[in-house]
Amino acid sequence: MRSVKNYLLILTLLLGSVHLKAQNTGADELLSQYHQISEKEIYNWVETLSSPKYKGRLAGTREYIQAAEWVAVKLKEWGLECGGSNNTYFQWFDRPWVEIQDQGEISLILPQKGDRIICKKYTFPDEAMVGMATGGGETTGEVVFAGYGVTAPELGYDDYKNIDVKGKIVMVSRDVPYKDVTNPEYSKWVKYCYHNEKLENAVRHGARGLLYLSGNSANPNISYDPSIIVFGISETVSDDIFAACNRDMKEVFARIDKHIRPESFNTGVNVTLKASSVYHKSAKACNVIGVIPGTNPALKDESVIIGGHLDGVGFIGETIFPGAWDNATGVACMLATAKAMGLSGMKPERTIIFIFTGGEEVGLLGAKEYVRNPLLPLDKVICYINLDMTGNGTGLGIGNGRSYPDLLHWFEEANNNYIHRPFTATKKSPNYGRPRSDSAPFEQAGVKVMALYVTGAYKKGYYHLPQDKSETITPEVMEDLAKLLYLGLPGIVNN
Ligand SMILES: [Zn+2]
Repeated sequence: MRSVKNYLLILTLLLGSVHLKAQNTGADELLSQYHQISEKEIYNWVETLSSPKYKGRLAGTREYIQAAEWVAVKLKEWGLECGGSNNTYFQWFDRPWVEIQDQGEISLILPQKGDRIICKKYTFPDEAMVGMATGGGETTGEVVFAGYGVTAPELGYDDYKNIDVKGKIVMVSRDVPYKDVTNPEYSKWVKYCYHNEKLENAVRHGARGLLYLSGNSANPNISYDPSIIVFGISETVSDDIFAACNRDMKEVFARIDKHIRPESFNTGVNVTLKASSVYHKSAKACNVIGVIPGTNPALKDESVIIGGHLDGVGFIGETIFPGAWDNATGVACMLATAKAMGLSGMKPERTIIFIFTGGEEVGLLGAKEYVRNPLLPLDKVICYINLDMTGNGTGLGIGNGRSYPDLLHWFEEANNNYIHRPFTATKKSPNYGRPRSDSAPFEQAGVKVMALYVTGAYKKGYYHLPQDKSETITPEVMEDLAKLLYLGLPGIVNN
């Protein structure tokens, strides 16, 4: 009895309840494809995408394009239509990129009693990491602490006001002194919290090096300027510098934040930076777009878009950042759903678009490109659903779901009746901070956006690190997430 009931429940979802009779012919195929969504296959895809062959999938590289081709071949095999330009799956855009040739070197020169000095080198990647868009060469100079590296005349705030950094090395935080991203007041500060702006401002002030207080994760989303050498540094490095000039970094930042008043100073500590990079000015990257076209003439211009970024942070010299969790997992879940939908012969009333974006890690480039050149009108997009890092945990969640109950209930129903995972959904909350996901360009264009995510992570994740490998993910939850999409979407596109 139970299995018959399940069969009917699941069919009702898959066919979109009101069309149960009209489409009943393909019901068995719809169900069969549902059961073929498999964690093993999903895991294999994550392994493939995060293998050394694709070198961390940095947008602009040849290896990224090879990964994009690999996705396109699959979409074709499963019968999805081309959603890119000139009847291909690819939507191209310019993407100059910087090739970092080795780990570089960062060393502190600490004067001791007499005329002795200690030269302290820092380890890669735990203590310091060469900037992923750094200029090349070698420089030695005094470190000047420049707070948040912000020059904002209209806000009466300038970290560079009483210091001279020409030919020197500035040390700045990735943040801004105003912290409440839920307050509209933050909008005035947001343009100063971009990595690009920090670097360009350091260059404008004549700095020759930039020590970025960014922890030790890789970040290619920063401007390139050949005149400046960049290193991301951990607290190990900044603590040494502050200790050498008898200050406490936390206290200094607490005072700056409290009064929103800069407190920049010369540290008297010298540092040597070495890096080697090549700028690839005229490279391109792409989105990969596969489509299941709507069949109702009155509704086929309306679309649901499923998006996730295919690109990763790439490599530094011989060290690859595999990007398994971020975001081969999102891509693999999307592939599983696309495969099941493609092979099932599903004929939705509205159009379903799968977009594997390029250049998310370097400023949401692919999502911005799609919003500039959409396949179907943006004002007819029912919703954009983002998948990013969906591969570590036990529960399922829908970001912004509570704000769109008409869309959410299809997924809730699918989970309650069939998948039975712990399930959460959040409500949209105000955030005036720097946009950090592919949803942002869609949301700014007036599209409803949601995110499918995983809760209850139980393996250690390695965000933007060389250890972000496939063994750190939990494929069984990915199978269920792909199934949730497969069961939930038909209700949205058919009702
Ligand atoms: Zn990501």
